[in-house]
Amino acid sequence: MKLPPRVINDADPSALTIEEALLRIRNALPQLKDVQTVDCLNALGRITAADIHSPMSVPPFRASAMDGFAVRVADCHSALRLDGQSMAGHPGSDRLAPGSCQRITTGARVPDDADAVVQQENTECNDGTVTIRVMPQPGLNVRNPGTDSRQDDLLINAGTRLGPSQLALLAAHGVSNVEVVRKLVVALFSTGDELRKPGNRLEPGQIYDANRPLLQSMLHDHGVEVIDLGICKDSEAALEQRLSASQDADLVISSGGVSVGEADHVRQVLARAGQINFWKIAMKPGRPLTFGISRPGQAYFGLPGNPVSAALTTLLFVLPSIRHMLGRSLELPPALQLPLTDELHKNPGRVEYQRAIMQQDANGNWQVGTTGLQDSHVLSSLHKANCLIELKSDSQGAAIGDSVRVFPFSHFAEPVL
Ligand code: AMP
Ligand code: MG
Repeated sequence: MKLPPRVINDADPSALTIEEALLRIRNALPQLKDVQTVDCLNALGRITAADIHSPMSVPPFRASAMDGFAVRVADCHSALRLDGQSMAGHPGSDRLAPGSCQRITTGARVPDDADAVVQQENTECNDGTVTIRVMPQPGLNVRNPGTDSRQDDLLINAGTRLGPSQLALLAAHGVSNVEVVRKLVVALFSTGDELRKPGNRLEPGQIYDANRPLLQSMLHDHGVEVIDLGICKDSEAALEQRLSASQDADLVISSGGVSVGEADHVRQVLARAGQINFWKIAMKPGRPLTFGISRPGQAYFGLPGNPVSAALTTLLFVLPSIRHMLGRSLELPPALQLPLTDELHKNPGRVEYQRAIMQQDANGNWQVGTTGLQDSHVLSSLHKANCLIELKSDSQGAAIGDSVRVFPFSHFAEPVL
């Protein structure tokens, strides 16, 4: 479909760029200091509180990388006498008489006197005599101690999210407990007199609260604990009540009620609560963003009410902030450049994120196309999307075949952390 050209400029001189807003947020955010020691079996997704050094060398001994025979290379030109064996977990003798070899399995200790392991397939074994078919080089198939890491090496930096690889690495070094940053407590509520919880009947003028399921899911992470404070009426008293119920939270997130409409009490109540900024961000969707410090050690995000705007501001501002509060670096997820399959229109003046679908063409090459309607209440297009296309502030759109910047949703997923 060909859209008519648009020339409206969307720039607002008072709006902050995303980068400027992120910088201001980072400078204001409190960081969690409390540390706890957890069993590595329960440490998935937690953030290391200190550097972890290797308590031992791994592998701890010279180990065979193959099933075969441990040999002295210099002896391999003639048939070798089979003398003993070294099995994984059952090391044999460290001595190897001249002209002999030892049967060995993968992971078993290589005798001190051997300088190579010849894999079984390259040998012939008859009546206790082993003939080497392919001459080895010294060191062949021997894993030396410390080739994974040496004792006292820095294994994992402070501020690292513990995923499967990190937990395996710790286990391989015999580490059973780890110091992590305590969980970040987030208090979450939606504001709006029109909102109802799914499962209840809608009265005229009401809609269902989509933002709590959205945000709860986006915040679902091992390092985060969410306190659900439900739906908050558009009244100062209701808001005050939510804020006092949030007093143990490190971060409070509300959605809705921060625009200039009559029912927007969040501003007044927050102005009394702490140091809160009401920013316009030069982005679409999600222009208004409320951020500040609601009480000592507690950050506050007031997100736009439209669900797609709430999702976008969470991806771009809230998740990076959570990472920063937990001691991780505050950076945007990695982007791709992909060719575009649709024409995109845009007014210059703010960065635009369009919901999009990246997929492979018939030749297996990745490309990206729009999900269509981009209004910020349209959740069905967020559902269809698997990525966002970023169009720069001064862009007026993009043509079919243009290379555009794409943020796959999967990159936000590890992220919460
Ligand atoms: P507001 O920011 O409160 O002015 O809300 C902007 C738009 O988003 C309005 O159409 C609201 O009805 C809608 N909205 C606000 N909160 C939610 C929510 N939790 N779920 C779905 N829509 C919402
Ligand atoms: Mg509202």
